[in-house]
Amino acid sequence: MTEVLIAGGGPVGMVLAAELALLGVGTTVLEPNLSTVDVPKAGTLHARTVQSLARRGYLRADAGHPPGARVTSRFHFAGLSGLDISGPATEGTPIVGLSQADLERHAEARARRLGATIHRGHRLTAAGQDADGAHATVLGPGGEYRISARYLVGADGARGVTREAAGFTAETQGPTIAALLGAVRLLDPAHAPAGWHRTERGWFVGNPNPYGHSRVITFDFTGPHPDRRAPLTLDELSATADRIVGRPVPMTDAVFLSRFSDYSRLVTEYRRGRVLLAGDAAHVHFPVGGQGLNLGVQDAVNLGWKLAAVLRGADESLLDTYHAERHPVAARVVHNTRAQLALMNPDPAVDPLRDLVTELLGLEPVRRHLGDMISDQEIDGFLPNASLRVNGRTTTIAELLWPGRPLLVVLDDGARPPDLPGVEVVHATATHPLPWASALIRPDGYLAWSAPSGVRDTEGLSAAAHRWFGTKAESGTGLCGHDVRAR
Ligand SMILES: Cc1cc2nc3c(=O)[nH]c(=O)nc-3n(C[C@H](O)[C@H](O)[C@H](O)COP(=O)(O)OP(=O)(O)OC[C@H]3O[C@@H](n4cnc5c(N)ncnc54)[C@H](O)[C@@H]3O)c2cc1C
Repeated sequence: MTEVLIAGGGPVGMVLAAELALLGVGTTVLEPNLSTVDVPKAGTLHARTVQSLARRGYLRADAGHPPGARVTSRFHFAGLSGLDISGPATEGTPIVGLSQADLERHAEARARRLGATIHRGHRLTAAGQDADGAHATVLGPGGEYRISARYLVGADGARGVTREAAGFTAETQGPTIAALLGAVRLLDPAHAPAGWHRTERGWFVGNPNPYGHSRVITFDFTGPHPDRRAPLTLDELSATADRIVGRPVPMTDAVFLSRFSDYSRLVTEYRRGRVLLAGDAAHVHFPVGGQGLNLGVQDAVNLGWKLAAVLRGADESLLDTYHAERHPVAARVVHNTRAQLALMNPDPAVDPLRDLVTELLGLEPVRRHLGDMISDQEIDGFLPNASLRVNGRTTTIAELLWPGRPLLVVLDDGARPPDLPGVEVVHATATHPLPWASALIRPDGYLAWSAPSGVRDTEGLSAAAHRWFGTKAESGTGLCGHDVRAR
């Protein structure tokens, strides 16, 4: 029996498949599309996602900076320029431009190389579960068939089937605006509005590309789409853009057209027994701030190692920490996108509020607060990257986590640890002073336990290893240490 069946091989499903395959979990992905579709949607990886992907080797982080040094990327809040997103210099640039299609391709190649089975052209049509496992009905090129797995993950996006088929409930808020998205050729790209452009009639967001197709988005605040599913035409996009901008924005040759809105939905639980949800299947919201894919990728890196640990004997309650940790983060994103949308209202009555927020963005603590919120760096407990010497070689914490296994780093002044089966123990020398001497690190980079120099906390370490990885230590006596609870 497949151990984990993933419905949906979009970017989130493929990252999860690669995570599971890395840990030797028998993984099958069902994906209706025969190949990756180049949708002009997500193109921004925010800091915590960048940091997470660096801990698997998708991206490299140069840790040769002193702790405390920071680097900054420019971003926007509610279409207002002036938001900086900053992060530790040891993690690399806080924002990385990567299309969601390219992320999907990288992750799919990695998942296949590591042994995952990817069935393209296969669509889940029904799902259920019993004490033995999760069961799916699938429509493939050869007709309908049934497949079972120990766990099923619905990563089948906003319009997927798993959520409803498996009985998940959700909190929703209906749409209030009508948004259009197109990849088109702009006939006069030099004079098309670039970036985020607000008028009294709505918003035009353009990324003019003189050499090829440009992404064009419009937000019309007069009300939601009368028919969300009606196919969008180039004429409608073009007329809406002209009306909102107040002059012609000539365009032709659409290669992608779609409607979206500020509709939001957040499932009330991420796990129902043997079925779990990740990515847009669990949460959808207005896409301002480029947060949706980032949420989903972090769902995948949070869930992968937990599923692997449970399949290898850790207590099933570990899977409940997936909901406990990820649901509040998505709720906060839904909330901040609604706040941004309120600020984006084209009504001139909102102008003084926008001016005030622009002033506030001039204050470093405000930029830091909002930047950490948008980039998910406000999630506690992530161990910053650091440069280490291990067996005469310079490496980093991020690199040591590439294998995706629980990691105990013991610095020169750290106490000798007990034997912890399943935990990789690395003895290292820090190249810069660090606030800990021993650190037990989860595969997703979050701290499970740490102790400063001179403290031997065998009991706390053993308890944390058991709690997070199902590890049973051989021996132990306890002093004081720092056990980091679910975040
Ligand atoms: C205009 C716009 C701009 C955006 N910009 C950003 C951004 O800058 N940054 C950001 O982080 N996010 C952004 N987003 C959000 C981002 O696109 C989504 O959050 C992201 O696509 C979610 O990935 P996913 O893998 O969960 O879902 P999807 O990308 O929707 O993938 C789901 C997959 O499941 C498959 N599937 C569907 N039904 C089934 C089924 N029954 N069985 C099996 N498979 C199925 C689909 O074919 C698809 O491949 C934007 C969204 C929009 C609309």
